[in-house]
Amino acid sequence: MRYAGRVGSLRPSATMAAAARVTEAIRSGKDIVRFDIGEPDFDTPDHIRAAAIDAIRKGFTHYTSARGIPELGAALAQSLRPDGMELGQENLAFYPGSKLGVYSLLSLLVGDGDEALIQDPVWPTYASIVEYLGGSPSPVKAWDEANPDSFPVESFVAKMTPRTKVVVINSPCNPTGSVATKKALEELEEACGSKGIVLVLDRIYSAITCEGGPAGAPSADPEKGNFVVVSGFSKEFAMTGWRLGYTVASKELTDLLVKVIDNTSTCASAFVQKAAVAGLTGERSWQKKMNDEYRARRDIMLSEISRVPGWSCTRPAGAFYCFANIGSPDSVSLSDGLLREARVSSVAGGHFGPSGEGHIRLSYTTSRDRIVEGMGRIRRYVESTRAG
Ligand code: PMP
Repeated sequence: MRYAGRVGSLRPSATMAAAARVTEAIRSGKDIVRFDIGEPDFDTPDHIRAAAIDAIRKGFTHYTSARGIPELGAALAQSLRPDGMELGQENLAFYPGSKLGVYSLLSLLVGDGDEALIQDPVWPTYASIVEYLGGSPSPVKAWDEANPDSFPVESFVAKMTPRTKVVVINSPCNPTGSVATKKALEELEEACGSKGIVLVLDRIYSAITCEGGPAGAPSADPEKGNFVVVSGFSKEFAMTGWRLGYTVASKELTDLLVKVIDNTSTCASAFVQKAAVAGLTGERSWQKKMNDEYRARRDIMLSEISRVPGWSCTRPAGAFYCFANIGSPDSVSLSDGLLREARVSSVAGGHFGPSGEGHIRLSYTTSRDRIVEGMGRIRRYVESTRAG
C-alpha cells in the first residue's frame, strides 16, 4: 500500500506500547507489579456512573454540538473560576479525550517547517504529533532536579525563533510532577504574546496535587488569544475510559477547533457529557480522599526509592508519578531488565525527552502494599546487578 509521506514520522506512543507489553505479560500468567500505568486505579465515583446510566435510559444518546451541552459548559466555567479562569461557552470545545484536543489544536497551529518549543522532560505525545504534522519539536530543558520548584521561563525565551509557533507546557507535569507557578506561566504567556506565539498549557493533572491548592493557570482571559488550555476528565474524575477532554481558547480559535471537530469526531459522547456534569456539580469530598491517598503512596514510594542503591528522586508536587534518577544513562535497558527479571513495569525516562534520560517513571496508581512489594523487587534487582 502507498501511504502518505507523513506516515514516516508517525511514532508509536512509548507509554501505550509499554502498557501493552505489560498487559500481555500479565495475561500470560506473570505476577507483575505495575508502575507503568498513567491512569487512576480508582473507579469512577458512583454518582457519575449513575448519571451516565440515567442519561442513557432517558434517551440522551444523540449527537451534541462540538461545543458540548450548555450545562456542561456552564458547570466547567464555574469550576475553573477558583483557578483564576473566566470563560464562556464560546471559549469551550469538547473531544473524545484530551489527546484529541491536543491533536486538533496542534493541527491548527503547526504546519510544515514550523517549530514547537516543548517542555523537557514531558509526555512524548506532543512531540510525536508535531512531527506528524510536519513541524519540528524543540525540547527546552525545564526541570532542575536540584531546584524542582523553579521554572526556567528564560530558557524558553532564549529558544524562540521566527519559526516558533507554539510553546507546550504540562503542569503538573507528566513525568516529573513539577508544577509551574502562576507567576511563571504569566511571564511565559507574556513572552509568547509579544512574539505572536501560542502558549499551550495541558492542565490534565491540575486537580491532582499532593501539596494542596490548585495548580497554576495562565491569565484569566482566553480572549487575549495567546494561550490555550487543554484538559479533560480522565485523571481528575478517574474517567480515562469514558474519553472526555476539552480546550479553553479564544472565540476565534475555538470556532476553528469546532470546524476540526465537526469534520472528525463530531462531538464527545452525549451521556458522557451528562456524567461529567454530575462530576462537576456533585459533592467533591471523594477527591480530597483520592489526593490524600496519592500523597501517602507518593511518600512511601519516595522513601523506598531512597533505599535503592544509587537512586534518588525529587518530591513530585502533583500528578501521580515519581521520576527517579537511576544514576546511569541507560533507562531503556534498566526498564527492560526490571520487567524481565524483577517483574516490575515502568517507563524509561528517555522516552520523555533528552533530559528524561537517566531516569525512570514509576506511577503510584496502585495500592500501598503493591508499592512496597514492587520497590522491594526493584531494590533487590539493582543490588544484584551492582554486585555482579
Ligand atoms: N496529557 C497528558 C500530560 C497525559 O499524561 C495524558 C494521558 N496520559 C493525556 C493528556 C491524555 O488524556 P486523555 O485521556 O484525556 O486523552
